[in-house]
Amino acid sequence: MSILSVKNVNKNFGGLKALNNVNLTVEAGTVHAIIGPNGAGKSTLLNCFIGRLEPDTGTVTFDGTSLLGIEPHEINQIGVSRVFQTPEIFGELSLVDNVMIPAFAKRDGIFTLNAWRQIKTETVIRDKAMVMLEDVGLAAKANEIAGQLSRGDKRRLELAMCLVQDPKLLLLDEPTAGMARADTNNTIDLMKTIADRGVTMVVIEHDMHVVFSLADKISVLAQGTVIVEDMPENIKGNPKVQEAYLGG
Ligand code: ADP
Ligand code: MG
Repeated sequence: MSILSVKNVNKNFGGLKALNNVNLTVEAGTVHAIIGPNGAGKSTLLNCFIGRLEPDTGTVTFDGTSLLGIEPHEINQIGVSRVFQTPEIFGELSLVDNVMIPAFAKRDGIFTLNAWRQIKTETVIRDKAMVMLEDVGLAAKANEIAGQLSRGDKRRLELAMCLVQDPKLLLLDEPTAGMARADTNNTIDLMKTIADRGVTMVVIEHDMHVVFSLADKISVLAQGTVIVEDMPENIKGNPKVQEAYLGG
């Protein structure tokens, strides 16, 4: 059963065709990787899934609901969470407060100042946030300030901020960007654990080691077009893919 369906999506920036008739189907319970050279349109495509960008033409449907024109908080409420290419955390706040905020946002539809006052006394959400921090291996740092974390730990924190929303679909834009190999391997293990719980994932990733460790299916984007969609074992030797990377 497909959970995310992208049909004939086009997006131009001025004269630049960033997305050229993109089609993509993500099956529920799978990890679907989107790979491609720099500037291929990967982040643009992801932004069309979360209401940050509206395609010029085409449709994006999640679980039967159109994602076009949707607000970020609505995305969370229908079961989609995302991690951006650059970590977006609250640097001044503790880790546990960081994880509580998206939980409030999901429950109340939007995060309000009122919710901020409640945050200190809200034990149910605090307990849940602690469980999520444990899941990602950050429980010991729960009361530290998030801005001081290493890059790998910031990524893990972001994952906890997503997981606390109990997403059906998790979107990740280069989750291991800038990580050392050991951190990358930890992140792969963590993503496998999340996938094993039945969360569908769309992962944009540069690092082939990550892609081939995780993906059930791979779509290759080049110059705004999906040139191949196939199982990982059929991607490696594909001449079109090699050409896109070498020529791209
Ligand atoms: P990727 O994530 O695959 O590296 P992007 O989706 O970021 O690629 O970019 C695809 C193309 O669209 C690039 O040529 C990029 O410069 C261009 N682009 C992306 N966002 C914008 C924007 N907001 N305005 C103009 N051009 C953009
Ligand atoms: Mg990108």
